[in-house]
Amino acid sequence: MPVYTLPDLPYDYAALEPHISATIMELHHDKHHKAYVDGANTTLDKLAAARESGDFATVLGLQQNLSFHLSGHVNHSVFWQNMSPDGGGGPTGALAAALDKDFGSLDAFKAHFGAAALAIQGSGWGALTLDPISGTLLVGAFQDHQSRQFTAAAPLLLLDMWEHAFYLDYKNVKADYVKAWWNVVNWADVSARFSAASTAAA
Ligand code: FE
Repeated sequence: MPVYTLPDLPYDYAALEPHISATIMELHHDKHHKAYVDGANTTLDKLAAARESGDFATVLGLQQNLSFHLSGHVNHSVFWQNMSPDGGGGPTGALAAALDKDFGSLDAFKAHFGAAALAIQGSGWGALTLDPISGTLLVGAFQDHQSRQFTAAAPLLLLDMWEHAFYLDYKNVKADYVKAWWNVVNWADVSARFSAASTAAA
């Protein structure tokens, strides 16, 4: 049995239209996400073979591949849940209060998050995470899937800024993609992640 498996999308491919097309969702989930799942499993097999043979000549590249593929799998697994055809608007309760405390307001958070996502050079992810030491919300901009993350910070809201996530719909106009994406953000899921991460950090 493989260690990692591709999770089903929690909605139909077309559910997020007109903001994200069914074509993108099908390719993105069935091809791109699957490739990261397969890559993580294959790399674990190769690492097991290296341990068995005692030949660690390729261990650096294998560890880099595991970091890339597994982070890609984790990020996409969060990303699908972070979206819903019933999304949009804003959070309520504890998450709304925490965003106000750490960013000033929901609008200020969204401006910071969007700017960080749009400033990514090449491929990466916009991210809202919870730092487990201080309980502070942090905006991040991951490079690729795994670089520039904050160690142990829990991902609450992730935005895929790889070209495969938007190019068929928005071409080079990344700002329109980010603007449209807020309409499908599943704040109930983000709030649940915030609650779980806050409890774990306490
Ligand atoms: Fe992606």
